[in-house]
Amino acid sequence: MKRIALLGGTGSIGTSTLEVITALPERLSLYAVTGHGNLKLLSEIVRRFRPAVVGVTGGVGDLALVKEAAAGCGARVVCGAEGLVEIAGLAEVDAVVAAVVGAAGLRATLTAAGAGKRVCLANKEALVVGGHLVMGVAGKSGAEMLPVDSEHSAIFQAMLGGRRGEVAKVVLTASGGPFRGWGRERLAKATVAEALVHPTWAMGQKVTIDSATLFNKALELIEAYHLFGLRPEQLGAVIHPQSVVHSFVEFVDGSVLGQMSPPDMRLPIQYALTHPERAGGPARRFDFLAKHAWEFWPAGGAEFPAIRLAERVMREMAAGNTGVGAVFNAANEVAVEAFLAGPIGFLGIAEVVERVLDAAEFAGVRGGTLAEVEAVDASARRVARGMIEAGV
Ligand code: NDP
Ligand code: MG
Repeated sequence: MKRIALLGGTGSIGTSTLEVITALPERLSLYAVTGHGNLKLLSEIVRRFRPAVVGVTGGVGDLALVKEAAAGCGARVVCGAEGLVEIAGLAEVDAVVAAVVGAAGLRATLTAAGAGKRVCLANKEALVVGGHLVMGVAGKSGAEMLPVDSEHSAIFQAMLGGRRGEVAKVVLTASGGPFRGWGRERLAKATVAEALVHPTWAMGQKVTIDSATLFNKALELIEAYHLFGLRPEQLGAVIHPQSVVHSFVEFVDGSVLGQMSPPDMRLPIQYALTHPERAGGPARRFDFLAKHAWEFWPAGGAEFPAIRLAERVMREMAAGNTGVGAVFNAANEVAVEAFLAGPIGFLGIAEVVERVLDAAEFAGVRGGTLAEVEAVDASARRVARGMIEAGV
């Protein structure tokens, strides 16, 4: 029986994880869970799953609701960002599902990795910001880093078909988002409502906007760079609108392995929890009798600069500028918030990110420690907000 700490239990990945736990009661149990703003849902989860520890990281609006539910099953309640970190390192926990959105999940992910847990990682931003730190502590503690992101789960599974040193290239697939094929003129007028409709996946707001800009793929390239220890030139992305092939690994002999399944996050979540075993679970099955056409073409034309920016970030990282991931991610988080709130348009997101990366103060930026990374993150947010306020 694996005891799970679920960070971000009230989100899209969080609720899918709860479905997997429900489907595999003989293997998985929920030991601890956290929520941020949706405390009504958190209290329902507590009533249903009866965890030992509950974390409330955000506003205190409905805290009484959570406390009441926790009292009903004798659960301990912890609060704030410290509570998230405490839960990630609990001695009783075997696997931590990191499903918080944004850089807010970095400290807890580092703690879980440092404590030698199995880290089932959905929170890609944590790796983009501090991948060198997380992989460093995981290497020392022996923590297993198991990807939840569908592309990285596919890569992880395909890599089992050869040795790490025999991998020539890794190609991530991208649905292309709702604006695939749109020109700049149309993109300039794209609305928030249009950006929030994803063609193949139902996800949280931030990752849905990231999918529309292709910043999701950009973040995922950097995530793969850290997770699999690849060189920047070994990584690429292709558009695959059907979202059935979740990524490819090409080996030195030219053989290409991929992983296929209908788009359903419960599968990579479950695999991260049960690896090296597989189990019957709730994920949708492939219909071999239906007619299929799978398309692939290069990602990242001039309309979608995110991929080009990710390549730049990886090159800078490889040259030793370890803080550049924090700059890139912070600028994107701020720009996405500004797009959702109104001050910038769709094309403004990539413009803000590129201009923040270009800012003189971030040239050669280093982030050798958590404190340095957090300082870089904070100043990149400040610079990005300043640009947006100035009407960039
Ligand atoms: P959601 O927005 O649906 O959920 C985010 C979760 O994090 C919620 O539980 C939320 O709490 C919590 N949260 C928000 N802000 C904070 C904070 N500052 N501190 C602690 N907790 C916080 O996002 P998703 O589930 O879609 O995505 C989660 C992560 O997984 C992201 O990094 C995303 O890129 C990645 N991912 C998601 C996929 C998907 O299919 N959804 C696919 C692959 C990767 P509350 O809701 O209570 O406010
Ligand atoms: Mg993904």
